[in-house]
Amino acid sequence: MNFIHLQEFKESTRHSKIEKAALPKKAIFALSQHTGAPSDPVVNIGDVVKTGSLIARSKGFISSNLHSSISGRVVAVENSPHPIIGVFTAIVIESDGQDIKAFSEPGRDISNISKEDIANIVKEAGIVGLGGAAFPTSVKLNPPAGKKIDTLIINGAECEPFLTCDYRLMLEKPKEIILGARLIAKALGVKDVIIGIEDNKLDAIEALGSALFRMPLDYARDRKGEGCKVKAVKLRTRYPQGGEKQLIKTLLNREVPSGGLPLDIGCVVNNVQTVFSVYEAVYFGKPLYERVITVSGSFLKKPKNLLTRIGTPIKELLESCGMDARQDIYKIIMGGPMTGVAQYNLEAPVIKGTSGILVLGKGFSAPSQELDCIRCSRCIEACPVGMMPCLLGVAARKNRFDIASTYNPFDCIECGACGYVCPSNIELVQLIKLTKAKLKLHSLH
Ligand code: SF4
Ligand code: SF4
Repeated sequence: MNFIHLQEFKESTRHSKIEKAALPKKAIFALSQHTGAPSDPVVNIGDVVKTGSLIARSKGFISSNLHSSISGRVVAVENSPHPIIGVFTAIVIESDGQDIKAFSEPGRDISNISKEDIANIVKEAGIVGLGGAAFPTSVKLNPPAGKKIDTLIINGAECEPFLTCDYRLMLEKPKEIILGARLIAKALGVKDVIIGIEDNKLDAIEALGSALFRMPLDYARDRKGEGCKVKAVKLRTRYPQGGEKQLIKTLLNREVPSGGLPLDIGCVVNNVQTVFSVYEAVYFGKPLYERVITVSGSFLKKPKNLLTRIGTPIKELLESCGMDARQDIYKIIMGGPMTGVAQYNLEAPVIKGTSGILVLGKGFSAPSQELDCIRCSRCIEACPVGMMPCLLGVAARKNRFDIASTYNPFDCIECGACGYVCPSNIELVQLIKLTKAKLKLHSLH
């Protein structure tokens, strides 16, 4: 399996403890911010809501509930800026500044909780994968009959440059992550849990190892024999080590088949923040309405890791980090620099899958003129899933999506490694994304 090595750019936030972001004055909740069907609003204009109130219900098996991240009043249900798809219907809520919670804070007794209870709580709490894909976690906890899961992998690789939010969470909340992992393992009936962390975060491995060591035995293996064995494993720092398929191959030497899923080979993978959200939902009844994101890059006086309410406009976060808007900004990206999405409207909100907001200057990422392919094959050597991006790119450039479809575009994890190494500056991942979109549209795949 191929990997590349990237400059990390993590120094500016790796020592920044997680801070609470200010409550937004107005929050925007896109009805589509997860993989699957958009959720259905259950509130109307004028309704008063609390922090954690259900405002939209999942529609179908692959969908997700949505909760308000502030207390206040619903002022609109309308087309609003969306950070990934441009515009989408959203519920807009104005804050009352009170942050009145809709759920009880005290910890629950979970000694007799069943696997079905855990899956139901995760579904009701609207938890999705917080590594970026935003796939509903409850679906992963309900594998189809006949699919036996033997290993739960917790993804703490955080291999994209700049991002340090998962790292800080592992350092600051190791015990909670382990407890969350145990809950997911219980829901899946799994005995082996592996937390994979790159070796540029050795102190996070130590923090988790130390938390495991300090836990009483009944945390590690409960009295009914339903416990699991959790271990933190060091991975080499390389990109895209945090891709699900890459992580599974590295840790278990198993390969997800083309067009298949991790559960086809007995695995479920969850990001560390997802696991932390499961812990909060099960122990405290807290729905997913906030997450940690890294705000970093150029022109920020105070880059930070911020515990941010879902729905907060990007602009408010950048202002809180001291962005100098007069500077020569080239791009603002939601997510990491390799897989993130450029932003054109800073009123767009943080969504559940937002891991970072990056401000990049011209010196970092100036557009370069695209040249002809010189058939150097670097893109093929760099591709972690064994694709031939150059051939796919040529076909897509010529609008021959029928030919492009023969190069398995749906195996592409959109890691951007091919375009990164291409000496001709060909925007290969954009061409692959275009191919996927065209094929989906015409149902040719
Ligand atoms: S973006 Fe897709 S084709 Fe390019 S290297 Fe990554 S997986 Fe391979
Ligand atoms: S890396 Fe760029 S120039 Fe080299 S073969 Fe791939 S597309 Fe062509």
